[in-house]
Amino acid sequence: MAGTTVKTEAIVLRSIRYGEADRILHLYSRQRGRIGAIAKGARKPRSRFGGRLEPFFRLDLVLHEGRSDLLTVTSVATLDGYPRLRASGPALSAGARACDAFLRLLDSAEPNLPAYNLLCRYLTLLDDPEQERSAELEAALSFRLKLALAAGFAPELASCASCGEAEHLVGFSGAAGGVVCSSCEAGAFEFSEGAHAFMVEALARPLAAAPAAEPLALRQVERAIGETLEHHAHVQLRAAA
Ligand SMILES: [Zn+2]
Repeated sequence: MAGTTVKTEAIVLRSIRYGEADRILHLYSRQRGRIGAIAKGARKPRSRFGGRLEPFFRLDLVLHEGRSDLLTVTSVATLDGYPRLRASGPALSAGARACDAFLRLLDSAEPNLPAYNLLCRYLTLLDDPEQERSAELEAALSFRLKLALAAGFAPELASCASCGEAEHLVGFSGAAGGVVCSSCEAGAFEFSEGAHAFMVEALARPLAAAPAAEPLALRQVERAIGETLEHHAHVQLRAAA
């Protein structure tokens, strides 16, 4: 068989039934960024792939790369299956939204190690029974903000994104890509001090220590991240909760 062998660590973002017994996988790999792959016979009862080709599994994969856009899965070993995440409804839906954001935002075949590591950390957090707040909106928005940063679309938070003014930062403009001052707020939406502080703090802290904020501030944060990515990355994310 012509082609090359690719070995990589990857997380399953999406797994789709295909044909009689196959699966198509959307993977995010540590070494090559996004990979599309086919696992032939994966849905046969005695498949050597077992139940590992499901979303959130972190795998060590060997793939065959031929002329097709889809690589073919040759062998799989589980690095982490995140079993507690799978057993919790809120954690499952938080994990699904994280994978969905990844699918939309990171679609290139370029490795992005900070983004990959961030997804691993978030799944680990959702899998940790000690982290009771891991599936809450604060952690989801902290993840989303760090993901925007890793993808190169971090909003400007230090000074007005239009004119550079450091004071009177009262609005947020997705088009300008950050906070804006009272002179530049045309087209911006009202942005509270609480929302501003949440974004600055969340970027400075580890995921497991996401800051707390009022519901109104969190709605503004979600909108700020969403509009920044719409304008600059041309992607629309699903609701964060
Ligand atoms: Zn300004």
